[in-house]
Amino acid sequence: MKKPFVAGNWKMNTDSRTSVDLADSLASGIVENYNATVAVFPPFVYLQAVRDALDGSSIAVGAQDVYFEPDGAFTGEISVSMLKEIGCNYCLCGHSERRHVIGETDKLINKKVIAAIGGGLLPVLCVGELLKEREASQTNEVVTRQLKEGLAGLSAEKLAAVIIAYEPVWAIGTGLTATPQQAQEVHDFIRKLLAQMYDDESASEIRILYGGSVKPSNAADLMGQKDVDGLLVGGASLKADDFLSIIRASV
Ligand code: PEP
Repeated sequence: MKKPFVAGNWKMNTDSRTSVDLADSLASGIVENYNATVAVFPPFVYLQAVRDALDGSSIAVGAQDVYFEPDGAFTGEISVSMLKEIGCNYCLCGHSERRHVIGETDKLINKKVIAAIGGGLLPVLCVGELLKEREASQTNEVVTRQLKEGLAGLSAEKLAAVIIAYEPVWAIGTGLTATPQQAQEVHDFIRKLLAQMYDDESASEIRILYGGSVKPSNAADLMGQKDVDGLLVGGASLKADDFLSIIRASV
């Protein structure tokens, strides 16, 4: 039985005080015997302070992005070993805002996934279609491309370190959520695709999270779907009470 994975993506929000306050509230509000893996993804500059505030709790810390080169002249970038050194366990790769606002390509995202695994960070590879792609019935095609290119060169053994997040772009930060049935349909498609690309065992073991306007009121229904193994939460993860409710609804 896979443990549900609940991740909070803080995006470019909080400041030096509110990031630590939020971490403190989560650490004191979380029930330690729940059966879920929980991680928060603060902005880079607050990672260390949030890690310190969460010390002694079971909540892990991840980065919202990473660069694939180990070191050198890459102004503005952050390496896997830098993140590992300050206690990060996870990193997002290919979040839709990085794909569609910053312009990251599947090829670049693939390099990040490979570098993360090589350096001991667990990548959360985000995939998902735009509204116009859904309306043109291209969801499966888009997700297939993003998964095939994002996972290129990874063996089944390495795939075991990857977490997939299906995040329909039209549902991110918009208040529109995919219905549980829409989410299940795509998660089922992703699992079958991974079984074709790898094997049945790898596909059944991999965790596939849903993300896109998750809130306390819809978390349990989404989590109730057979192929939804966890949630990637943006806006609602900035409020400790909401995020804690989502965690409770997920276990
Ligand atoms: C996200 O940041 O990945 C996300 C799903 O955001 P929101 O929950 O705000 O839609």
